[in-house]
Amino acid sequence: MAIATVNPATGETLKTFEPLDEREVEERLERAAADFLTYRATGFAQRAAWMRAAADLLEGELEETARLMTTEMGKTLASARAEATKCVTGMRFYADNAEALLADEPGDAQAVGARRAYARYQPLGPVLAVMPWNFPLWQVIRFAAPALMAGNVGLLKHASNVPQTALYLGELFTRAGFPAGCFQTLLIGSSQVESVLRDRRVVAATLTGSEPAGRSVAAIAGSEVKKTVLELGGSDPFVVMPSADLEAAVSTAVTARVQNNGQSCIAAKRFIVHTDVYDEFEALFVERMESLRVGDPMEETTDVGPLATEQGLDDLEKLVADAAGRGARVLCGGVSPDRPGWFYEPTVLSGVTPGMKLFLEESFGPVASLYRVGDVEEAVTLANATSFGLGANAWTTDEREQERLVNELEAGMVAVNGMVVSYPQLPFGGIRNSGYGRELSAHGIREFCNLKTVWIG
Ligand code: NAP
Repeated sequence: MAIATVNPATGETLKTFEPLDEREVEERLERAAADFLTYRATGFAQRAAWMRAAADLLEGELEETARLMTTEMGKTLASARAEATKCVTGMRFYADNAEALLADEPGDAQAVGARRAYARYQPLGPVLAVMPWNFPLWQVIRFAAPALMAGNVGLLKHASNVPQTALYLGELFTRAGFPAGCFQTLLIGSSQVESVLRDRRVVAATLTGSEPAGRSVAAIAGSEVKKTVLELGGSDPFVVMPSADLEAAVSTAVTARVQNNGQSCIAAKRFIVHTDVYDEFEALFVERMESLRVGDPMEETTDVGPLATEQGLDDLEKLVADAAGRGARVLCGGVSPDRPGWFYEPTVLSGVTPGMKLFLEESFGPVASLYRVGDVEEAVTLANATSFGLGANAWTTDEREQERLVNELEAGMVAVNGMVVSYPQLPFGGIRNSGYGRELSAHGIREFCNLKTVWIG
């Protein structure tokens, strides 16, 4: 894939970049390794001051940064602004809390015959971050803020279609005062990832992206005995039971499906509705999806912009065609409007069966499938009939049902009477083919730490 900014709303190539050559990659690896040695000795107060300065810079540049994201990957300007704001919050959260989250953990000294016993979190070193384009700022910040606050240094291999956002991120931390080797962007293609990951100076990797990319990076890292965190795809269920506030459930369902033009790992993708409220849900949901405004993502009135890449549009069209060709009903949408760019109408299908690709694979665009179920057991069985396990949404006001759904939905995150969202304060991650490890909260900042056991006699 060429490293280039191509506006998804027009298909126009705006800027192309040459990938770094071997020597340029080597320079950055050496700088990362060298700066880690001094950076790890800095205290939390110094790191927090730099992190707050980076947050202030981003806050001051919010509008330009949001416009850059919209230009590179097509999210609506409103959602780009919200993403940049969330990054500022996340950076300040780790600046404020890293020291407490990584405080020494006392052990039972008496039980182990010690004068003192405790566990201490220490940084590991240069971590490679392979990142996707869909939240081009937030995915990176939610790795970088905790990693840098823990004393690690980062090397960013961003998605090839967001190079300018990648370069912006590479400069942001240095401009804020961090030593130059603390966070560097490597403009490289995915074929260059293996040699960086195998380099002895890189100690671990995190990848957010598709399942095949995750498998590949994890296999290489595994052969080098290097730790990985994987945040991969999802096909999140959205279960609606009869006691739910249907109006709220429908409006949240629409947001949960079309957020980020439908390209979110935690977007609800399969809507599993109890038969008692199914017909009403379907009618309202289809009406709301049809009324969404598809158009120029820079326009303030646009609800749904284009898909980020031509390939993404092609993949989505194939999923819908496969389902429709095998008996699913297209209730609305199902077409790409006749205009330049990679747009796709918000689409709802019913009659999707577990054998269809639309059920089995991740639909990365504004395409929802509806399922009718007779009871909570059938809902849980269908919700869990996927290889993914990222998030799950459940709508019911019955407390016993809530408890059952929280326990039985097989996912890393469950939202009841709401939708799965990431917060700096809560762990984020999945199970099964959605990956492993956690980002955010105390769990995220500890992923790339050596938990050193200390025994003092
Ligand atoms: P992708 O194609 O897997 O790309 C993600 C990153 O991996 C890019 O930097 C890409 O580089 C690189 N890459 C691709 N194949 C690779 C390989 N074989 N070896 C090493 N690196 C490789 O995914 P995407 O299309 O950018 O993003 C969409 C996917 O990310 C969806 O599946 C979505 O669900 C998932 N996602 C998950 C989360 C989560 O938290 N669980 C969050 C956001 C997105 P190039 O661009 O150069 O190919």
